[in-house]
Amino acid sequence: MSAWGLISGGDVTALAYDGRDYDLIVIGGGGAGLSTAYHAGKNGLRTLVLERFGVLNDSGSSAGASRQFRLQYAQQYMAELSLASQSFWADLQGFTQKTLITQCGSLWFGDPALSSQEGGIQAAEKVMDTLRIPYTKLDAAQIEAAFPFTDLPSDYAGFFQASGGIIDLKATEEACYDAALATGRVDIHEYEPVTGISEQADGSLTVTTGRGDYGAAKLAVCAGAYANDVLAHLGLSAGITIWQMSSAYFRKSDPDLRLPTWFVFQDPSASALFYGFPEVDWAHPGYARVATDFPDAILTDPGQRTFVPSPTSLGLDSRWVAEHMVGLDPTPRFTSTCLIALAEDSTRELLLDYTPAWGTPHPNIVTYTAGWAAKYLPILGDMIVRMLAQPTQQLTYGDFTIPLANFAIAWAPAAEPDQRTTPSRAIKEER
Ligand SMILES: Cc1cc2nc3c(=O)[nH]c(=O)nc-3n(C[C@H](O)[C@H](O)[C@H](O)COP(=O)(O)OP(=O)(O)OC[C@H]3O[C@@H](n4cnc5c(N)ncnc54)[C@H](O)[C@@H]3O)c2cc1C
Repeated sequence: MSAWGLISGGDVTALAYDGRDYDLIVIGGGGAGLSTAYHAGKNGLRTLVLERFGVLNDSGSSAGASRQFRLQYAQQYMAELSLASQSFWADLQGFTQKTLITQCGSLWFGDPALSSQEGGIQAAEKVMDTLRIPYTKLDAAQIEAAFPFTDLPSDYAGFFQASGGIIDLKATEEACYDAALATGRVDIHEYEPVTGISEQADGSLTVTTGRGDYGAAKLAVCAGAYANDVLAHLGLSAGITIWQMSSAYFRKSDPDLRLPTWFVFQDPSASALFYGFPEVDWAHPGYARVATDFPDAILTDPGQRTFVPSPTSLGLDSRWVAEHMVGLDPTPRFTSTCLIALAEDSTRELLLDYTPAWGTPHPNIVTYTAGWAAKYLPILGDMIVRMLAQPTQQLTYGDFTIPLANFAIAWAPAAEPDQRTTPSRAIKEER
């Protein structure tokens, strides 16, 4: 008997659970999929996660060790989502002894006039003012005095927001995994890629893998940059573009170096967007990570991905470190690459939507794919489960009601792999 009625009170397809039939199947066992499984299990739903590789893999968007958490956004609803996510982080923290977010603050600086479609420093300050998020405004001299940056143009400015921090990404995924299993209602199948999706006459869904068919009342597609491979089984594609990015660690030549998480806004046409992290004890102690915030390559298919970082990006990182950072050796070490799916429409920060399988938006199939979403992983699972429990146009968290229209996906028919067009999305200027 399906448990959906328990959380939605609505009419749902009831499936007899026989070991192959579930209330919910989640496609993709990255952070988003595992968080969804946790929230589903917590609500009593028999849930199956199907992951094409192993969990905690470095083949998708959750490659590497750390991500930035921040409250500030140029869009108010994104800042509200960050605020709302804090209680979900606290809940997830209960499943691990590792610190999921180390609160070291978030420093944004650079050309204050620079804005993209997403805004920039000034737009984020405006949103923080509206939401009464505290921050400290800084000019170039104050930034150089307080943080290990040097030789900044004198007209640079920015702010420090103390609630920002560094996410231990693998610990976060592990906590989602442990939390999901602890519900006692979640099965996680690794190395089992989904190869087909169909709808039965009774409205239930069948998901096919190399090991056979599984039935479910509902489906969550959380396949990250691989979303269009999965959505092709429904004859659909989402308007995403896929970036391959690289980053590197730089040795601390000053053992006392103290960094916040940081982002520098500079002329994007000059390939001058960089971000970085402090040293952490869970990845390359004694080193700090610095990365370019633009793609090494824009892919039309994740299969085009190489695991080779771009020498150009690493060279730019190295030059930025040599010219503008104090206490770091400018030789890049421990390099890595990562794939990120972003909305082709650069006004969209996250893509989360009902999926128009077989014509109209299907209330029982939700797709989450794109965005800088590590900071939202704990709340994303709740959002997806709530969308599936009861069709809705908005989600309310405390004082904030967030319209889902902000996250709408530009749907199109699935393209043949050799007909996929080159994405046109402009380079994003913040993360
Ligand atoms: C370089 C870089 C820097 C970033 N920095 C930040 C940051 O500072 N702050 C922030 O908030 N976010 C940041 N992000 C974004 C963040 O990392 C991602 O939003 C997050 O990791 C996405 O997790 P996910 O579960 O959606 O995707 P993934 O981790 O990619 O998971 C998707 C899973 O689906 C599986 N899958 C695919 N196809 C199938 C199939 N057919 N069958 C079964 N399983 C399948 C994949 O194997 C994969 O494990 C960054 C991303 C990158 C790449």
